Amino acid sequence: MELRPGSTQVFINQIVRKMASEKLTEHFTLEEMTRTKSKADNTPSAEQVKNLKRLCWWLEMLRGRWNRKYGDGDDPIVVNSGYRSAEVNREVGGVANSNHLTGCAVDIRVTGMDQMIRYANILLDISDENNELFDELLMEHKDGKMWLHFAVRPTGNRRKINILKTTN
Ligand SMILES: [Zn+2]
Repeated sequence: MELRPGSTQVFINQIVRKMASEKLTEHFTLEEMTRTKSKADNTPSAEQVKNLKRLCWWLEMLRGRWNRKYGDGDDPIVVNSGYRSAEVNREVGGVANSNHLTGCAVDIRVTGMDQMIRYANILLDISDENNELFDELLMEHKDGKMWLHFAVRPTGNRRKINILKTTN
């Protein structure tokens, strides 16, 4: 069968949209874990998607505990930035060896210092209780904005905890 010009692209777009809306876990989609304002390609490899899924496991736990203890019961955990291709990472001024490049990091949106500390506390509890290490738990801020950078690698997790004034 020969496809008319244009129809191949329509088909490809449908596949891309279907993949993007794919749920990695109950509350998190590939689309939100790869979202960027950049026009550059930001498609993760299978390995990187696996890393994003691992992060989503933590995010689900965070979501559940936040809502049981502090939230309204169904508050979302909002991801500002997850996976970043090399080009996207350069554009946003991320560090060269960023965990975002491998799909091992997320920047989690927070409403303020209260929520940032509580999120961090919950993530530490999850780590302790499940005997699971993380790589970075960084409370980052820049120009009055703040977010929680959280990273988990497949191996070699360093459990770095810090408050950082950052470029991104
Ligand atoms: Zn980050």
